[in-house]
Amino acid sequence: MLTINYGKDYVKTAYDALAASDIKTYLQKNIAVSIKPNLVVERPASEGATTHPEVAEGIIQFLKDFGIKEIKIIENSACGHSTKLAFRSCGYEALQKKYNVSLKDLKDDRFIPLKHEGIDFQISETALNSDFLINVPVLKAHCQTRLTCCMKNLKGCMPQSEMRRFHSLGLHKPIAALNVLLKTHYCVVDGICGDLSFEEGGTPIEANRIIAGQNPLLTDSYCAELIGYNPDDIGYLSYGIKYGVGEYYSQKTKIVELNTEHKPVCRINSEGTQSVPRIADKYRSLIDEDRACSVCYAALIFALHRKGGSMRGRKICIGQGFKNKGSAYTGAASSLRTAGSSECLGIGNCTQGFKNYVKGCPPKAADILGMLP
Ligand code: SF4
Repeated sequence: MLTINYGKDYVKTAYDALAASDIKTYLQKNIAVSIKPNLVVERPASEGATTHPEVAEGIIQFLKDFGIKEIKIIENSACGHSTKLAFRSCGYEALQKKYNVSLKDLKDDRFIPLKHEGIDFQISETALNSDFLINVPVLKAHCQTRLTCCMKNLKGCMPQSEMRRFHSLGLHKPIAALNVLLKTHYCVVDGICGDLSFEEGGTPIEANRIIAGQNPLLTDSYCAELIGYNPDDIGYLSYGIKYGVGEYYSQKTKIVELNTEHKPVCRINSEGTQSVPRIADKYRSLIDEDRACSVCYAALIFALHRKGGSMRGRKICIGQGFKNKGSAYTGAASSLRTAGSSECLGIGNCTQGFKNYVKGCPPKAADILGMLP
């Protein structure tokens, strides 16, 4: 089961996602819970690299209401970055004070030697000894592995020397093997504004969504499609299947979507607030947008970015303004529309009157990519 919730009140969105999810099937009272965010660098979550503290706050509130007393936030920031500084500058020290939770810099932890698939590991004792580990990554792109989400987030439970060694081993196999040795008990993915192309942020794409699921492989496979990849494009997901970490998301997976009316609407063609970041400027001339939800627009930008922005003369229409309009639709004002909309590719169910359109509300970037010329 995957639960997806939309909203701009991130504390409530995370809380409600968990309340509607199946986490209570796995959680027990009076256990110690560790929350593992992604604080790879000491940069605010709005830049697209780190987990919003509001998401962690929604999880903490949910756990406390459930009756959990012992809550730790654990992390080991990337090589050359200070976890303690990240805790402070990313808003986690404030959470510590407000909720009396503890912060554990895993750089100071003991590490336990373990082995899987012939690969030696050193894994954080604190993470291994957690009764229940909640993995709270950012859904974002990665320059080497393409996707970084739940499975890769566990890399922060190893010493920095191991992180470097992981890279020398090609990343995919060790990431999958690590997920066998260190079990994630539940995943809450921060899909608020993950970065389009780089794990350290700078090009965030607003989507305002939280995705909750029990299995890290299943959750990652769903998230891969959201940013334009098939699960088999991500090496560590394929290895994860081989090593028994889980299965890919499929038509059989129960999906619960909440508050779909809160999908943010971007207003790039009006004088309202611009919610799509500057990276989207690059592709704006290809797109005829009319009241598109940001999450829909974000999927399109992910797909165009992967494609390299070429549309070979085709035009793209996206947004709620295209509901009930067929492919013969031509507007007066837009140069794209007057350029001949019979060649328009519609994005999302709002454009289902078009001859060619990508299904979904929102559609997945992977599906859009498959339809781009
Ligand atoms: S298809 Fe759905 S997500 Fe996309 S603009 Fe229409 S209502 Fe929004």
